[in-house]
Amino acid sequence: MRISHALRLGIGAVAIAIAASTTGCGGGNDAGTGGSQAKDGKLTIGIKFDQPGLSIRDANGSFRGYDVEVAKYVAGKLGVRPADITFKEAPSAQRETMIMNGEVDFVVGTYSITEGRKEKVDFAGPYFVAGQALLVRMTNTDITGVESLNGNRKVCSVKGSTPVQNIKDNYAKDIQLLELDTYSKCVDQLRSGAVDAVTTDDIILAGYAGLAPGELKLVGPTFSVEKYGIGLKKGDRDTREKINNAIEEMVADGSWQRAFETTIGPLSGSTLTPPVVDRY
Ligand code: GLU
Repeated sequence: MRISHALRLGIGAVAIAIAASTTGCGGGNDAGTGGSQAKDGKLTIGIKFDQPGLSIRDANGSFRGYDVEVAKYVAGKLGVRPADITFKEAPSAQRETMIMNGEVDFVVGTYSITEGRKEKVDFAGPYFVAGQALLVRMTNTDITGVESLNGNRKVCSVKGSTPVQNIKDNYAKDIQLLELDTYSKCVDQLRSGAVDAVTTDDIILAGYAGLAPGELKLVGPTFSVEKYGIGLKKGDRDTREKINNAIEEMVADGSWQRAFETTIGPLSGSTLTPPVVDRY
């Protein structure tokens, strides 16, 4: 499944998506089947706090979005009720460390499975596949894809992310790269005119475009494949298997599709094929 440049930009309607989703959690409460990490019936899950449609913290402190739905569903299958989940902010650059030092039990946060990260943590999934794209101001006409960033364009992305690495490794010949902690800070820089583009996964950018209809747009095509996994402690095979099972059940019972459609889906303008879980 590729969302890629099929993302329909500027679908303004979008506030909707972001509002969404109290549905679809239905994770079930198979108490007693939880992995070692859920033995006390509680989980601390690392997520993003500022990615509209995917994982956002409201003013009243509640969490919504596609990643939140995935996290709640998986927790349910580990025997943990939504009320017993503590969500902790896991910025891109801190995810491996937070998992390794036990600050979080796992991370559900637009977290690409990579060989480098697999040296430090394990991944269940993938549960979603995205691709790197660009977000620019609606008035911009000369940035049409990653190649057109050359010419000293100012581009913002997030420290410790795969998009930043991809730009550095493959494209940064003549680009001014600004690395911040979160994508929302990059989007602020884009809106103020301080940078010309923000780069990360298309699905993340679609959420920001949706918040600023008529002001920001995605440009494609995508130039990477980002398989989102659920990161957990390296070597905890038992929990990883349980999370993999939960992801498969989420797809099979329709919750996966419903979670997407009631959150970020309306922004993406695409239909989805669930990825196949990789039980490496
Ligand atoms: N999926 C990419 C990554 O894991 C970009 C999104 C993010 O930084 O959360 O690095």
